[in-house]
Amino acid sequence: MSALPSIRLGISSCLLGEEVRYDGGHKRDPFLVQTLGPMVEWVPVCPEVEVGLGTPREAIRLVRDPKDPAEVRLMTGKTGVDLTKQMRGYARTRVRALAREGLSGYILKKDSPSCGMARVKVWRDQGMPERNGRGLFAAELLRQYPNMPVEEEGRLHDPRLRENFIDRVFMYRRLRALLSSRWTIGDLIRFHTAHKLALMAHSPQGYREIGRLVGEAKGVPRAELMRRYEDELMSAMAKPATRARHTNTLQHAVGHFKQTLDQASRQELASVIEDYRHALVPLIVPLTLIRHHARRLNVSYLLGQRYLDPELKELMLRNHV
Ligand code: SF4
Repeated sequence: MSALPSIRLGISSCLLGEEVRYDGGHKRDPFLVQTLGPMVEWVPVCPEVEVGLGTPREAIRLVRDPKDPAEVRLMTGKTGVDLTKQMRGYARTRVRALAREGLSGYILKKDSPSCGMARVKVWRDQGMPERNGRGLFAAELLRQYPNMPVEEEGRLHDPRLRENFIDRVFMYRRLRALLSSRWTIGDLIRFHTAHKLALMAHSPQGYREIGRLVGEAKGVPRAELMRRYEDELMSAMAKPATRARHTNTLQHAVGHFKQTLDQASRQELASVIEDYRHALVPLIVPLTLIRHHARRLNVSYLLGQRYLDPELKELMLRNHV
Protein backbone atom coordinates (compact mmCIF):
# COMPACT_ATOMS: atom_id res chain seq x y z
CA MET A 1 0.00 0.00 0.00
CA SER A 2 1.31 3.50 -0.79
CA ALA A 3 2.30 5.91 2.02
CA LEU A 4 -0.66 7.34 3.88
CA PRO A 5 -1.41 11.06 3.54
CA SER A 6 -0.80 13.30 6.57
CA ILE A 7 -3.22 13.19 9.47
CA ARG A 8 -6.02 15.71 9.08
CA LEU A 9 -8.10 16.58 12.12
CA GLY A 10 -11.17 18.77 12.31
CA ILE A 11 -11.11 21.22 15.23
CA SER A 12 -13.20 23.96 16.82
CA SER A 13 -11.36 27.07 15.55
CA CYS A 14 -11.18 28.86 18.90
CA LEU A 15 -8.93 26.06 20.25
CA LEU A 16 -6.24 27.11 17.77
CA GLY A 17 -6.30 30.69 19.09
CA GLU A 18 -8.62 32.14 16.44
CA GLU A 19 -10.61 35.03 17.92
CA VAL A 20 -14.04 33.70 17.02
CA ARG A 21 -15.77 33.40 20.41
CA TYR A 22 -18.90 35.39 21.21
CA ASP A 23 -16.80 37.88 23.23
CA GLY A 24 -14.15 38.23 20.51
CA GLY A 25 -11.71 36.03 22.41
CA HIS A 26 -10.29 32.54 21.85
CA LYS A 27 -9.62 29.35 23.82
CA ARG A 28 -6.14 28.51 22.55
CA ASP A 29 -5.07 25.10 23.86
CA PRO A 30 -1.25 24.93 24.24
CA PHE A 31 -1.06 21.11 23.91
CA LEU A 32 -3.04 21.13 20.66
CA VAL A 33 -1.23 24.10 19.15
CA GLN A 34 2.35 23.46 20.23
CA THR A 35 2.65 19.68 20.71
CA LEU A 36 0.09 18.01 18.44
CA GLY A 37 -0.08 20.87 15.92
CA PRO A 38 3.26 20.30 14.15
CA MET A 39 2.32 16.65 13.45
CA VAL A 40 -1.15 17.13 11.96
CA GLU A 41 -3.04 19.29 9.47
CA TRP A 42 -5.93 21.11 11.11
CA VAL A 43 -9.29 21.72 9.45
CA PRO A 44 -10.73 24.50 11.66
CA VAL A 45 -14.47 25.16 11.80
CA CYS A 46 -16.35 27.73 13.88
CA PRO A 47 -20.04 26.89 13.42
CA GLU A 48 -21.31 30.11 15.03
CA VAL A 49 -19.23 32.35 12.77
CA GLU A 50 -19.93 30.25 9.67
CA VAL A 51 -23.68 30.29 10.33
CA GLY A 52 -23.45 34.09 10.16
CA LEU A 53 -23.61 35.22 13.79
CA GLY A 54 -20.46 37.35 13.56
CA THR A 55 -17.88 38.26 16.24
CA PRO A 56 -18.49 39.60 18.82
CA ARG A 57 -22.07 38.37 19.17
CA GLU A 58 -24.72 37.77 21.77
CA ALA A 59 -24.01 34.63 23.83
CA ILE A 60 -26.20 31.66 22.94
CA ARG A 61 -27.29 28.63 24.95
CA LEU A 62 -29.25 25.40 24.83
CA VAL A 63 -32.77 25.64 26.28
CA ARG A 64 -35.24 22.82 27.01
CA ASP A 65 -38.38 23.40 24.92
CA PRO A 66 -41.21 24.05 27.43
CA LYS A 67 -43.80 22.65 24.97
CA ASP A 68 -41.79 19.51 24.14
CA PRO A 69 -39.35 18.47 26.92
CA ALA A 70 -37.65 15.97 24.54
CA GLU A 71 -36.52 18.91 22.36
CA VAL A 72 -33.59 21.21 23.02
CA ARG A 73 -33.41 24.58 21.27
CA LEU A 74 -30.48 26.90 20.54
CA MET A 75 -31.42 30.40 21.70
CA THR A 76 -29.72 33.77 22.12
CA GLY A 77 -29.42 34.43 25.86
CA LYS A 78 -30.84 37.95 26.22
CA THR A 79 -33.04 38.55 23.19
CA GLY A 80 -34.47 35.00 23.02
CA VAL A 81 -34.01 34.49 19.25
CA ASP A 82 -34.41 30.82 18.25
CA LEU A 83 -31.43 29.74 16.09
CA THR A 84 -32.19 25.99 16.12
CA LYS A 85 -33.40 25.65 12.53
CA GLN A 86 -30.62 27.86 11.16
CA MET A 87 -27.86 25.96 12.99
CA ARG A 88 -29.27 22.50 12.19
CA GLY A 89 -29.54 23.35 8.49
CA TYR A 90 -25.99 24.76 8.38
CA ALA A 91 -24.57 21.81 10.37
CA ARG A 92 -26.14 19.21 8.03
CA THR A 93 -24.57 20.78 4.95
CA ARG A 94 -21.21 21.69 6.51
CA VAL A 95 -20.70 18.29 8.13
CA ARG A 96 -21.59 16.53 4.87
CA ALA A 97 -18.98 18.67 3.07
CA LEU A 98 -16.33 17.53 5.57
CA ALA A 99 -16.36 14.15 3.78
CA ARG A 100 -14.09 15.79 1.16
CA GLU A 101 -11.51 16.78 3.81
CA GLY A 102 -10.29 13.24 4.54
CA LEU A 103 -10.53 13.71 8.31
CA SER A 104 -9.18 11.03 10.66
CA GLY A 105 -10.65 12.61 13.79
CA TYR A 106 -12.13 15.74 15.33
CA ILE A 107 -11.44 17.81 18.46
CA LEU A 108 -14.36 19.81 19.84
CA LYS A 109 -14.54 22.65 22.35
CA LYS A 110 -16.20 21.45 25.54
CA ASP A 111 -19.27 23.14 27.07
CA SER A 112 -20.21 24.99 23.87
CA PRO A 113 -23.91 24.94 22.80
CA SER A 114 -22.62 24.43 19.23
CA CYS A 115 -19.42 22.38 19.61
CA GLY A 116 -19.73 20.62 23.02
CA MET A 117 -19.90 16.84 22.74
CA ALA A 118 -21.42 16.00 26.14
CA ARG A 119 -22.54 17.51 29.45
CA VAL A 120 -23.37 20.88 27.87
CA LYS A 121 -25.67 23.03 30.05
CA VAL A 122 -29.34 22.91 29.07
CA TRP A 123 -31.37 25.72 30.62
CA ARG A 124 -35.02 25.65 31.66
CA ASP A 125 -37.48 28.48 32.21
CA GLN A 126 -36.51 28.46 35.86
CA GLY A 127 -33.93 26.94 38.14
CA MET A 128 -30.43 25.59 37.55
CA PRO A 129 -29.40 24.17 34.16
CA GLU A 130 -28.95 20.42 33.67
CA ARG A 131 -25.59 19.24 32.34
CA ASN A 132 -26.86 16.73 29.83
CA GLY A 133 -26.83 18.51 26.45
CA ARG A 134 -24.85 18.24 23.24
CA GLY A 135 -24.01 21.13 20.93
CA LEU A 136 -26.01 21.12 17.71
CA PHE A 137 -22.97 21.02 15.40
CA ALA A 138 -21.37 18.26 17.49
CA ALA A 139 -24.61 16.23 17.37
CA GLU A 140 -24.67 16.37 13.57
CA LEU A 141 -20.96 15.46 13.35
CA LEU A 142 -21.49 12.38 15.53
CA ARG A 143 -24.63 11.44 13.59
CA GLN A 144 -22.96 11.55 10.17
CA TYR A 145 -19.60 10.02 11.21
CA PRO A 146 -20.40 7.61 14.06
CA ASN A 147 -17.07 5.78 13.68
CA MET A 148 -14.75 8.77 13.44
CA PRO A 149 -12.77 9.42 16.67
CA VAL A 150 -14.10 12.60 18.29
CA GLU A 151 -12.94 14.09 21.58
CA GLU A 152 -13.16 17.31 23.56
CA GLU A 153 -10.01 19.27 24.33
CA GLY A 154 -10.56 19.05 28.10
CA ARG A 155 -10.49 15.24 28.07
CA LEU A 156 -7.27 15.21 26.04
CA HIS A 157 -5.41 16.59 29.05
CA ASP A 158 -5.78 13.12 30.61
CA PRO A 159 -2.80 11.01 29.35
CA ARG A 160 -4.89 7.82 29.11
CA LEU A 161 -7.69 9.45 27.11
CA ARG A 162 -5.13 11.20 24.94
CA GLU A 163 -3.37 7.90 24.13
CA ASN A 164 -6.76 6.31 23.39
CA PHE A 165 -7.77 9.09 21.05
CA ILE A 166 -4.51 9.08 19.08
CA ASP A 167 -4.64 5.25 18.83
CA ARG A 168 -8.14 5.50 17.38
CA VAL A 169 -7.16 8.28 14.98
CA PHE A 170 -4.37 6.13 13.49
CA MET A 171 -6.58 3.05 13.35
CA TYR A 172 -9.36 5.00 11.60
CA ARG A 173 -6.95 6.55 9.10
CA ARG A 174 -5.45 3.19 8.14
CA LEU A 175 -8.88 1.55 8.00
CA ARG A 176 -10.35 4.26 5.76
CA ALA A 177 -7.29 4.00 3.48
CA LEU A 178 -7.86 0.24 3.18
CA LEU A 179 -11.63 0.35 2.70
CA SER A 180 -11.46 3.11 0.11
CA SER A 181 -8.99 1.07 -1.98
CA ARG A 182 -9.74 -1.97 -4.19
CA TRP A 183 -9.16 -4.26 -1.20
CA THR A 184 -9.34 -8.04 -1.23
CA ILE A 185 -10.25 -10.45 1.57
CA GLY A 186 -6.49 -11.14 1.84
CA ASP A 187 -5.86 -7.40 2.44
CA LEU A 188 -8.52 -7.32 5.14
CA ILE A 189 -7.05 -10.40 6.86
CA ARG A 190 -3.55 -8.86 6.78
CA PHE A 191 -4.90 -5.58 8.17
CA HIS A 192 -6.76 -7.40 10.92
CA THR A 193 -3.77 -9.57 11.83
CA ALA A 194 -1.52 -6.51 12.22
CA HIS A 195 -4.00 -4.90 14.63
CA LYS A 196 -4.84 -7.91 16.80
CA LEU A 197 -2.83 -6.84 19.86
CA ALA A 198 -3.99 -3.22 19.60
CA LEU A 199 -7.59 -4.44 19.50
CA MET A 200 -7.06 -6.83 22.41
CA ALA A 201 -5.74 -3.94 24.55
CA HIS A 202 -8.99 -2.04 23.97
CA SER A 203 -11.57 -4.81 24.01
CA PRO A 204 -10.92 -8.55 24.46
CA GLN A 205 -14.58 -9.18 23.57
CA GLY A 206 -14.27 -7.11 20.37
CA TYR A 207 -11.06 -9.03 19.59
CA ARG A 208 -12.97 -12.36 19.71
CA GLU A 209 -16.10 -11.16 17.86
CA ILE A 210 -14.28 -9.32 15.06
CA GLY A 211 -11.94 -12.31 14.70
CA ARG A 212 -15.02 -14.45 14.03
CA LEU A 213 -16.30 -11.95 11.43
CA VAL A 214 -12.95 -11.98 9.61
CA GLY A 215 -12.87 -15.80 9.79
CA GLU A 216 -16.23 -15.92 7.99
CA ALA A 217 -15.41 -13.02 5.64
CA LYS A 218 -15.63 -15.06 2.43
CA GLY A 219 -19.30 -15.84 3.12
CA VAL A 220 -20.37 -12.23 3.91
CA PRO A 221 -21.44 -9.84 1.09
CA ARG A 222 -18.69 -7.24 0.52
CA ALA A 223 -20.72 -4.12 1.44
CA GLU A 224 -22.00 -5.75 4.63
CA LEU A 225 -18.51 -6.98 5.54
CA MET A 226 -17.09 -3.49 5.10
CA ARG A 227 -19.81 -1.85 7.18
CA ARG A 228 -19.71 -4.43 9.97
CA TYR A 229 -15.91 -4.51 10.14
CA GLU A 230 -15.65 -0.72 10.43
CA ASP A 231 -18.53 -0.44 12.94
CA GLU A 232 -17.29 -3.26 15.15
CA LEU A 233 -13.61 -2.33 15.00
CA MET A 234 -14.12 1.35 15.79
CA SER A 235 -16.63 0.68 18.57
CA ALA A 236 -14.20 -1.84 20.15
CA MET A 237 -11.37 0.71 19.84
CA ALA A 238 -13.55 3.32 21.58
CA LYS A 239 -13.34 1.24 24.77
CA PRO A 240 -10.43 2.54 26.84
CA ALA A 241 -7.23 0.50 26.87
CA THR A 242 -6.83 0.05 30.65
CA ARG A 243 -3.76 -1.06 32.59
CA ALA A 244 -5.37 -4.49 33.17
CA ARG A 245 -6.07 -4.95 29.45
CA HIS A 246 -2.58 -3.80 28.48
CA THR A 247 -1.18 -6.31 31.00
CA ASN A 248 -3.18 -9.18 29.44
CA THR A 249 -2.09 -8.09 25.97
CA LEU A 250 1.58 -7.97 26.97
CA GLN A 251 1.33 -11.46 28.49
CA HIS A 252 -0.35 -12.70 25.32
CA ALA A 253 2.47 -11.18 23.24
CA VAL A 254 5.10 -12.97 25.36
CA GLY A 255 3.32 -16.26 24.55
CA HIS A 256 4.44 -15.80 20.92
CA PHE A 257 8.08 -16.31 21.88
CA LYS A 258 7.21 -19.96 22.63
CA GLN A 259 10.45 -21.82 23.36
CA THR A 260 12.73 -19.34 21.62
CA LEU A 261 13.24 -17.04 24.59
CA ASP A 262 15.76 -18.16 27.24
CA GLN A 263 14.65 -18.58 30.83
CA ALA A 264 16.41 -15.46 32.18
CA SER A 265 14.93 -13.17 29.50
CA ARG A 266 11.48 -14.70 30.04
CA GLN A 267 11.72 -14.00 33.78
CA GLU A 268 12.90 -10.47 33.16
CA LEU A 269 9.93 -9.82 30.84
CA ALA A 270 7.47 -11.31 33.35
CA SER A 271 8.89 -9.08 36.08
CA VAL A 272 8.74 -5.92 33.92
CA ILE A 273 5.11 -6.69 33.00
CA GLU A 274 4.36 -7.18 36.70
CA ASP A 275 5.98 -3.80 37.43
CA TYR A 276 3.77 -2.26 34.75
CA ARG A 277 0.70 -3.93 36.27
CA HIS A 278 1.53 -2.28 39.60
CA ALA A 279 2.11 1.12 37.92
CA LEU A 280 5.84 1.08 38.79
CA VAL A 281 6.93 1.59 35.17
CA PRO A 282 5.11 3.07 32.14
CA LEU A 283 3.83 0.97 29.24
CA ILE A 284 6.76 1.94 27.03
CA VAL A 285 9.12 -0.20 29.20
CA PRO A 286 7.60 -3.69 28.60
CA LEU A 287 6.75 -2.73 24.99
CA THR A 288 10.38 -1.82 24.26
CA LEU A 289 11.66 -5.04 25.80
CA ILE A 290 9.20 -7.19 23.84
CA ARG A 291 10.10 -5.36 20.64
CA HIS A 292 13.79 -5.88 21.35
CA HIS A 293 13.39 -9.66 21.74
CA ALA A 294 11.00 -9.88 18.76
CA ARG A 295 13.68 -8.28 16.56
CA ARG A 296 16.51 -10.36 18.01
CA LEU A 297 14.61 -13.62 17.53
CA ASN A 298 12.84 -12.50 14.33
CA VAL A 299 9.31 -13.32 15.58
CA SER A 300 7.40 -12.18 12.50
CA TYR A 301 3.91 -12.12 14.11
CA LEU A 302 5.10 -9.68 16.78
CA LEU A 303 7.16 -7.60 14.37
CA GLY A 304 4.02 -7.08 12.28
CA GLN A 305 1.94 -5.77 15.23
CA ARG A 306 1.10 -2.05 15.15
CA TYR A 307 0.72 -2.26 18.95
CA LEU A 308 4.49 -2.64 19.32
CA ASP A 309 5.23 0.13 16.87
CA PRO A 310 3.47 3.18 18.27
CA GLU A 311 3.18 6.17 15.99
CA LEU A 312 3.83 9.79 16.89
CA LYS A 313 6.67 8.74 19.21
CA GLU A 314 7.35 12.45 19.77
CA LEU A 315 4.17 12.68 21.84
CA MET A 316 5.59 10.05 24.24
CA LEU A 317 2.04 8.81 24.77
CA ARG A 318 3.16 5.52 26.24
CA ASN A 319 5.56 7.12 28.67
CA HIS A 320 2.58 8.39 30.66
CA VAL A 321 0.19 5.38 30.79
S1 SF4 B 1 -16.80 26.67 20.61
FE1 SF4 B 1 -17.26 26.34 18.47
S2 SF4 B 1 -18.81 27.87 17.97
FE2 SF4 B 1 -17.85 28.50 19.89
S3 SF4 B 1 -16.22 29.87 19.28
FE3 SF4 B 1 -15.33 27.84 19.44
S4 SF4 B 1 -15.45 27.03 17.38
FE4 SF4 B 1 -16.83 28.77 17.46
